[in-house]
Amino acid sequence: MAVAAATLNGHTGIQGTKEGWRLPMSRKSVAVIGAGISGLTAAYILQKHFDVTLFEANDRLGGNAETVSVGKRLDVDLGFTGYSTVAYPTLSRLFRELGVEGQPVVSASDAVCQDCWFADLNGTTVAGGELKRPEDAAEAVWDSFTADQQRFGKELASLVGTGDTDLTIGGFLADRGYSSYFTRHWFYPRFGPWFLLGAADLDRMPVSFLADSMAPLLNPAALESWHTVRGGSHTYTAGIAARLSDVRLSTPVRNVRRTADGVTVRTADSGQEYFNKAVLAVHPQQALRILETTPQERDVLGAFRFVAVNVVLHTDTSVLPTPDCTGALMMHLSCRSSGPEFADCHVDVTQSLRLDTAERYVKSFNPTDAIDPARVLARRRYEVPLFTGESVRAQAALGTRSTDRLAFAGSWFGNGFHEAGCLSGVRAAEALGARWDQGA
Ligand SMILES: Cc1cc2nc3c(=O)[nH]c(=O)nc-3n(C[C@H](O)[C@H](O)[C@H](O)COP(=O)(O)OP(=O)(O)OC[C@H]3O[C@@H](n4cnc5c(N)ncnc54)[C@H](O)[C@@H]3O)c2cc1C
Repeated sequence: MAVAAATLNGHTGIQGTKEGWRLPMSRKSVAVIGAGISGLTAAYILQKHFDVTLFEANDRLGGNAETVSVGKRLDVDLGFTGYSTVAYPTLSRLFRELGVEGQPVVSASDAVCQDCWFADLNGTTVAGGELKRPEDAAEAVWDSFTADQQRFGKELASLVGTGDTDLTIGGFLADRGYSSYFTRHWFYPRFGPWFLLGAADLDRMPVSFLADSMAPLLNPAALESWHTVRGGSHTYTAGIAARLSDVRLSTPVRNVRRTADGVTVRTADSGQEYFNKAVLAVHPQQALRILETTPQERDVLGAFRFVAVNVVLHTDTSVLPTPDCTGALMMHLSCRSSGPEFADCHVDVTQSLRLDTAERYVKSFNPTDAIDPARVLARRRYEVPLFTGESVRAQAALGTRSTDRLAFAGSWFGNGFHEAGCLSGVRAAEALGARWDQGA
């Protein structure tokens, strides 16, 4: 009964609410489900054309972009932190329009092996852009390491745009004979932190996907253009929310169903509401739980997997690899561990966020080192996409699943970074008929 009324009302532009039915509206209504960067970007564009209702399960905006306030009102980003003004054109445009300012950061990184004497400390043990041979590394081992480094760059570049989803990183490194000294001390510590994936998960990624993802990020102009958001990422989420008339936090959507001419959305609080259109900007497994899907959608959405990332914000600098580490990203490697893993990975956010304090604030990812509990300020668990041949093939198929009634968005449409989430939001808005350049 409610559905029939809602469908009828869809023709007249009348919107159902839990209070009853509102009288004719001149603009169509859109539900955006999920307030991460992808849903927020879609909502920002859509609100110029339609009446947007943003549903968010959490009690805050941002999803994997989260700012916490610590110490003397210091705003620290726990999730999304850095972006490149060169390699993130869509996000940079969004920030410009919102008046959100960036601040340049040094993207230097330090890596120290806890089992041998390998150390790559930017500016101290790197002479003339080249690593020095550690005293305990035999010359032959070091020669093959440096040769691997040189050919890796060329081999990766040759894979850009090939679209080969079958050759995985693990297969590529083994087939091409890269030494374990190279993979443990250089490859996994260099690329794991970009995707927040350990070596075993990185090994499953198609190597051409890595090549395509890294090409825009590794060009020299992009490497020089990293920024963090002045005041924290909550400045941009608040900027978008301020432009929306209906933002519903702590409102998990339970069910989304397509009707003959629109979409119904059911939440625990408000029962069922009718909208002309909807954007589903949640993770694929979440979409599967709430959307009444077609068999094809189940196949495509079911191809994606996510893995957990634990983040600890603290001031315990004893966990840093050595007191000499000064880079923004600091890693403890382990060349004797049974798997091809890098060990602990820490980010000095005092530097990257330019916090005005003498205290050193550190973000540790999936730490195995014991952090002094008295120095822990926040703990979070996020989820990031695990890219496999199956999920990369599904990305292409998913794009064609968006229609002018229901569109999907998420950073998992691309390489999992914020630019990919922002771009997916733009595309979802376009699929529903709203172009960024048009509208009031
Ligand atoms: C620790 C960490 C650090 C990162 N650092 C960087 C970085 O420095 N640079 C960079 O480019 N990228 C970074 N990333 C990646 C980046 O954060 C993600 O690309 C991006 O934030 C994901 O956005 P999204 O919109 O796809 O998903 P999410 O941010 O996960 O948003 C999905 C939203 O949907 C909501 N939701 C789920 N189910 C429902 C429901 N049923 N009803 C209503 N709402 C629902 C969720 O609560 C969530 O808010 C980082 C990620 C992590 C985890």
